[in-house]
Amino acid sequence: MENSAAILQELLEGNDRFINGKTIHANDSSLAKLKNLAITGQFPKAIILCCSDSRAPVEIIFDQDIGDLFVIRVAGNVIAPSLIGSIEFAISTFGTNLVLVMGHTQCGAIRATLEYIAHAEAIATENIHDIVSRIKPHIFALTQNKDIKACDHMDIAVEVNVQASVNQLKFSSRLIESCLLKKTIEIHGSVLDLNSGKVKMLKD
Ligand SMILES: [Zn+2]
Repeated sequence: MENSAAILQELLEGNDRFINGKTIHANDSSLAKLKNLAITGQFPKAIILCCSDSRAPVEIIFDQDIGDLFVIRVAGNVIAPSLIGSIEFAISTFGTNLVLVMGHTQCGAIRATLEYIAHAEAIATENIHDIVSRIKPHIFALTQNKDIKACDHMDIAVEVNVQASVNQLKFSSRLIESCLLKKTIEIHGSVLDLNSGKVKMLKD
């Protein structure tokens, strides 16, 4: 599994470059690279499931280029069949062996779910309700815990939701389970802090 660890290290080093204003991939060679990849095909080094929030652009915050990352973005980085299918596709087609789930601070999907739990507010549409109903079971317990202050709910819920997505991924696909068993893939959770740009890895 050296490969996964090395790739994760590459991503975190890219995040450091982004934070320090020393990015190396956002340059004029991107079109040439795209044209080349159109001929050779893609070999993404990592699969990333993250939120659709416009402030969490994965390639930019990890300082990666076209062709580097296979990205699945969905509000609240929730797990649903088509999203698992996208990850299975990348694992089986490209042999990519690092899967990173990335949530972020100030996540609107988490906020909407917290408000839904607190006030039972009606959700605008059935499809938005589908997202909220996937997040709610993961974060409901913490909202009922009297030892956790309401002002801390948001940050804790973001982390808990990422960890829940990681755990769901590990046990909701035969392909993923078998790859984990053979140790050909690793799945990790992380949170992007919108204030600092830093991606924090969560404990497995
Ligand atoms: Zn979000």
